[in-house]
Parts: sequence; C-alpha cells; structure tokens
Amino acid sequence: MSHLMNTYARLPLAFTRGEGVWLWDEAGGRYLDALAGIAVNTLGHAHPRLTRVLAEQIGRLIHTSNLYRIKAQEELAAKLASISGMDNAFFCNSGCEANEAAIKLARLAGHNRGIESPSIIVMEHAFHGRTLATLSATGSRKVQAGFEPLVSGFVRVPFNDIETVRQVAARNTSVAAVLVEPIQGEGGINVSALEYLRALRELCDRQGWLLMLDEVQCGIGRTGKWFVYQHAGFLPDVMTLAKGLGSGVPIGACLARGPAAAVFKPGSHGSTFGGNPLACAAALETLRIVEDEGLLENALAMGAIIRDGLAAELAGVPGVREIRGRGLMLGIELERACGDLVNRALDRGLLINVTMDNVIRLLPPLVIAESEARQVVATLAPLVREFLARPEVRVAAKG
Ligand SMILES: *Cc1c(COP(=O)(O)O)cnc(C)c1O
Repeated sequence: MSHLMNTYARLPLAFTRGEGVWLWDEAGGRYLDALAGIAVNTLGHAHPRLTRVLAEQIGRLIHTSNLYRIKAQEELAAKLASISGMDNAFFCNSGCEANEAAIKLARLAGHNRGIESPSIIVMEHAFHGRTLATLSATGSRKVQAGFEPLVSGFVRVPFNDIETVRQVAARNTSVAAVLVEPIQGEGGINVSALEYLRALRELCDRQGWLLMLDEVQCGIGRTGKWFVYQHAGFLPDVMTLAKGLGSGVPIGACLARGPAAAVFKPGSHGSTFGGNPLACAAALETLRIVEDEGLLENALAMGAIIRDGLAAELAGVPGVREIRGRGLMLGIELERACGDLVNRALDRGLLINVTMDNVIRLLPPLVIAESEARQVVATLAPLVREFLARPEVRVAAKG
C-alpha cells in the first residue's frame, strides 16, 4: 500500500536523471520533455551552469530566515525590477503563495481606500492555486467542489470580455482589483487579446483598481518576452511569478509597482522559507542564463517551429479545432477528449500534457533546440492523426 496521500493519478514511471530537454526512466528509456515539469524547468534538466552555482551555494549557505538581510534576495528583487519595470518583490515558495500575497495586498489596499469589504474580479476558467483563497479565485468547480465554504470577495466574469468588466465597474463599488492570467494555462491555453489587456489597464486606472497579472505559468520568457504584458506595452500594478523562476528550485514572487508597492508594512505578510539564499541563487542564475543564452529569442523561434509544424501537419485533419498560444506555451484543441494521448506519447518517448480534457498542452524548456522542436512535431502530429482517425469511444451513460 502506498503511504502517499491519494492526490495525484500518477503515470507509472519515474525518472532518474535528465539532461537538457531529455529525461531517462528507471529502465533506461529516454523521453523528450515537452512539458518541463509544468513550465518549471526553464533551463531544462541538469544545466551545467545552474548545477555549479547551486552546488556552490548549498556548500556555503542554504537558509537563514527573513529575520536577517539576504543579499541574494535583494539582488534578485533588483534584477526582477529591472526586467519587469516593477518596483519591489515579496518572495515565497510557490504560485499559490504568490497569489495569496497579491490577494492580501489587494484587500489591504482596498481597506486603505475605505472600501469596507473589498472584492477582486476574477475570470472564468482561471487557475490561481489550491490554497483556500486561491481555489476560491480559481474558475473551476472541479478545484472547488467539496471545499466549501469558499473564501468570499471574488466577482467572476468571462475571460477576454471587457464589456462584462465595464458592467461590474458601473454597479459594484467594492472592487479593489482585477486578477487575471494573460494566458490561461490550466484553463486550456486561452490567449487574451492584447487589446483586452490594454482596455483592462485603462479601466483599472479610471476606477482606481489594481491590475494584478498572474504570470506564474506564462512568465519568465516562455512567450518570447520576459512577461506577457510586455507584448502589450503597459505595466501592471501587481504581478505574480513562480513556476519557471527557479528552474526547478521552488520559489514564488509577488511584484508590485507604484502605490501598490507601498501597501505591505512589517507584519502585513511573511514567509519562513521565502526567498532563502538557495532559492534566490537558483532564480538569479536562471535569469542570467536566459539572457546569456538568448532564450527569449529561442522561445519565440522554437515556438514558431512547433506551432507552424503542427499547423502544417494537422491542416484539414477533421477533429482538430485550433492550435494556439505564444512562444513555447502552446495548446492544440481537439473536438474530443484526448487524455489518452498522454500515454500514447509516452510510448513514443514524448512527455506532453492534456488540460480541460481536450487541449494538448506543450510547455517545453526554453533551451529546446531546433532538431528537438522538429522532433516534437514529428512525434506528436502522427499521434494526433491516428487518434482522431479511430472512431470515438463513448462511455455509455449509466441508467
Ligand atoms: C500553477 C499555477 C499556480 C499555482 O502554482 P503552485 O506553485 O502550484 O501553487 C497559480 N497560477 C497559475 C497561472 C498557475 O499556472
């Protein structure tokens, strides 16, 4: 009997080592990792430069707590500020914690403005995490069911629809902030229009709301710019990061700018582990390597190869609804549920994911090379064609 809590339906294999985009399992089988631990392994596996820096850091200092200054944390905050245009950062260990910080910040900012019970506008199909506040902000009944009572104070609107947000603005005086993923990840790789994001920015300015972007999955270079809002040419008030920031070492961050950067005071929020010397060394070196190796450009170029390759290979194939995304954050939506494709890809040495039942999700490491990008296409396209060519198996309804 397993002594693990039954929280994941795991695939029956374990990896023992990795190198770049490649992973090896216990039997010696080799896999092309087109998922990167769910957008986490920015630099792929066992990047030599990151390995060296981490080994040195572990030998020197792992943790001291936030009761003392942490030089690497100050340096990381400055680096993040310079690449994002934000002013300051709070460090934690995960995406849900980063969003908890943002939610607390928005509520405190609301109270400071005299709003008695501040609320936050969130989106349908959003995913913000599994803690009570973040699952309440999440737009999925699957994530929430059974955990009621939910945290109150969230107003839900359709994603990518500015009119509904304007209607809320017209009638609701308790709103303090909007929280949105510029590209929804778990929700099916839903790309918001840049026009929509700019309109949200304008509306937030007019209403005095904080615009808070959850870039936990789409940030850190995956779309060809450090952050998705940089494609749209404005700055948010708050941004949350985690997944790709430490290239596998757990770290999250909540960044703020302008008045939002001055909301928290000593005692407002905290974390024992957050931003410790090891995690910050991992994040700092990750950001430097992304720059030194030109990985923003690579994400764009390799993303185009995979996307164009799949578009060509799957053109006119009945059952393929849409191929979408930005850079190395890609979704292929089919007309039917395709969770089984994960196993079929595994059999052919390719790691992929399926989200929302019918969207194949690709999130490869930013270090992926051209031959590897072409191999993703060459492996995945025939699998999709074969899958769709078979008659759909429908599970008969009980009755
Ligand atoms: C994964 C994810 C989170 C939650 O991150 P955890 O580290 O699992 O807590 C939050 N927001 C988005 C957009 C995510 O993709």
